[in-house]
Amino acid sequence: MVRLNEIRENEVAITPPEPTDATLIFIGRVSTPWTSRLETPRQGRPDGPVCEIEIFEPWVEALAGVERFERLEVLYWLHESRRDLVLQSPASNGEVHGTFSLRSPVRPNPIGTSIVVLDRIEGNRLFVRGLDCLDGTPLLDLKPDRTLFKPIAPPQKGDFETGAVHMCKKIDD
Ligand code: SAM
Repeated sequence: MVRLNEIRENEVAITPPEPTDATLIFIGRVSTPWTSRLETPRQGRPDGPVCEIEIFEPWVEALAGVERFERLEVLYWLHESRRDLVLQSPASNGEVHGTFSLRSPVRPNPIGTSIVVLDRIEGNRLFVRGLDCLDGTPLLDLKPDRTLFKPIAPPQKGDFETGAVHMCKKIDD
C-alpha cells in the first residue's frame, strides 16, 4: 500500500537530528503523468510512459554528450516523503523491515534513483521512459548508466587493487 504520512502497526519513527552541512541544488524538474502517490509506479519500467526532465540554467551546458547514452541514471528528491521511520511496514500487515533494506521513498535523505531509457533531447529537455516519481519532483543529478560508461580519465592505482571476496546474500522478495 502507498503511504501518505500515516504510521502503521509496528512501525518505528525517530526524532531526526537537525540537518547540518549538506546543501543540495535542484538542477531541474521532472514532469510525469502522476499527481498522486497512490497512482505512481513503485518502480519505473523501460516501457513506461515518456516523461520530461527539464534542466535549469546554469546547468544546461552540462548536457553536452548526454545524447550518446541510451540509458541514464536519474537521481531525484522525493520531496513529499516523511523522513523519520527506521522500521517500515510496506504491506501494512504489522511485519516491519529496516529502512535501509527497502527502496521505499521514506528515508532520512529521500533520494530516488531510476535507470531511464533516453528517447530524445530537445534543448534543455530530456524525454525518457522509466521514471516513478510525482509530477514536479525536483531533479538532483543525471549520469550515464554505469554499465554503458567507461571512464574517460586514465586509470588510477586503486583501479587495480583487489581484496578478499565476500559472499553476497541475495534476498528474494
Ligand atoms: N526508483 C526509486 C528508487 O528505487 O530509489 C524510487 C522508488 S519509490 C518506491 C517510488 C514511490 O515513491 C512511488 O510509487 C511513490 O509512491 C513515491 N513517490 C514518487 N515521487 C515522490 C515524491 N516526489 N515525493 C514523495 N514520494 C514520491
